[in-house]
Amino acid sequence: MWYEEKCELCGECLVRCQYVDYDEEKAITQIKELMEGKPAEILKQCVTCCACNEYCPTGANPFDLINRLQEVHGSLPIPEKMRKFMDAGVTAPSALTKGDPSKPVLSLCVMDPFLPADAVGGGMFEGMTVVKGGDYFCYLGYVHIGMDSPLEANAKRFVDALASIGAEEIVFLHADCHAMMSKMPEYGIEVPFKVTHLIEYMRDYLREHADAIEPLGRKIAYQRPCASRYSPEIETVLDDMFERIGVERVARKYDRDSARCCGGLFSRIYPDRIKPMMAENVQDAVTAGAEAMVFLCPLCMGTLAKPAAEQGLKPIFITQLVRMALGELPFP
Ligand code: SF4
Ligand code: SF4
Repeated sequence: MWYEEKCELCGECLVRCQYVDYDEEKAITQIKELMEGKPAEILKQCVTCCACNEYCPTGANPFDLINRLQEVHGSLPIPEKMRKFMDAGVTAPSALTKGDPSKPVLSLCVMDPFLPADAVGGGMFEGMTVVKGGDYFCYLGYVHIGMDSPLEANAKRFVDALASIGAEEIVFLHADCHAMMSKMPEYGIEVPFKVTHLIEYMRDYLREHADAIEPLGRKIAYQRPCASRYSPEIETVLDDMFERIGVERVARKYDRDSARCCGGLFSRIYPDRIKPMMAENVQDAVTAGAEAMVFLCPLCMGTLAKPAAEQGLKPIFITQLVRMALGELPFP
C-alpha cells in the first residue's frame, strides 16, 4: 500500500532505481507527478523489480503507487501470451497430499512444474502435508505485468484456501506467497495460521539437525528475487543458514539491496535494455569468485540457469543446496 503521508519527497527511491538514470530533481518531479495520478515517465520505464519499496527510507512504498498507476494507465506493453500465462496460475491443477498433522504444511503455490526434480525431498520435507496448484496460487506475480488490483481482489480467497487445510503453520516455498502474506494486514485480512518463510524453516531444521551437516566449503552467488523486497528481515536468517552449511555468499555488486531482477519477463519486452543487464549480473557473480548461482525463486532459476551455466556457474535451487549440506545430494 502506498502511504502518501510518509513520503518526504527525497527522491531516493528513483535515484537508486537501476533501470533509470534519474538525478534527485528528476526523481522528485516523477514522484510528484505520480502523486497527482499522472502517467509519469517512470511508469513505462519501471520493470516492477519492487526494489524502490526497500530503498524508501520512510516506508512509503513507492512501488505500490507506481504499480497501481501502471494498471490505471496501461503503461506496460505486456504481450497477450504473458497475460494468459499469469491468468493460467489459478487454473493449475491443485493437489493436497496429506502428511503428519503435527508437522507444518508445505505450500508450493504453482511452482511445482518449475522446480528441479529433487528440490523437495529428503529429511527436511519428510512427512509434511504438501499443497500445490491454482487453489493455493498467491497472485503476487500480477505486479510484474503491471497490475495491482488482482492482489487485493483475490487475497481473501488465497487465505481461505490455505486456512481450510486446518494447519497451525504453513511454510511457503515461493517467496511470492510469503510476500503476499505480508500484505494481508493492509487488506484487513486475518491470517489464522503461522506464516513461515522457506529460509526460516530450513535454518531452523539445520539448527535442530546440526550433527547431520557436512559443511560444503563452497562460494556461491545468490540471486535475490524481487519478492524478497517484501521481507528484508529474512536476509540475516539466510546469512545464518549459509554459515551453518559452510557456504560463502560472495560479496558482489548485484546482491542484497542492490540485487537485480532476473530479467525473465522484461528481457522479452525490452530486450535491448534488459539482456545486457542480465549478462552483467551473471558476470558479476563470476568476477566475485562464485562457483555456483543459488536461487530462491524457481522462475529466476528458469531464466538465469542457462546463462549462468554458460559462464561456468552451477545453477542450484536453495533447497538442493541445503540437501547437499545434509549429505542427501552431491554438489554438482
Ligand atoms: S520497482 Fe524497480 S524498476 Fe520500478 S521504479 Fe522501483 S526500483 Fe525502479
Ligand atoms: S517514496 Fe520514499 S524514497 Fe521516494 S521520494 Fe518519497 S520518501 Fe523519498
